[in-house]
Amino acid sequence: MMAAVSDDGLRSEIAHLLTSGFVTDVFPRADSHERVQQLVSDLRLAGDDLKSKLRIAGFTSYPIMQHDICQLCETCMYYKVHRRFCELPELNLPVEPDWSCRLWRI
Ligand code: SF4
Repeated sequence: MMAAVSDDGLRSEIAHLLTSGFVTDVFPRADSHERVQQLVSDLRLAGDDLKSKLRIAGFTSYPIMQHDICQLCETCMYYKVHRRFCELPELNLPVEPDWSCRLWRI
């Protein structure tokens, strides 16, 4: 049986993708209930496919400014500080504090 990929290993893999030209759907941001529901539904369909999850959620390896608010994992309600982890169930991925995605919520 293969060992599970560690948070650090998966975080490195994501960082590599995000900094080597992998394109994600950064906009439009999820700024309405309907859009959040649509994205969550799309993420559920993506299942465990990492690239699909990153693309649908619009991951970036840097914060995104939106309506004068800096959106980054560190200030998101789904961010677990000590584990550097996104606890949104449909993402459930290791992240860095200065990354962002369009499901950001405060
Ligand atoms: S939902 Fe929040 S913590 Fe998770 S990746 Fe998006 S911005 Fe980061």
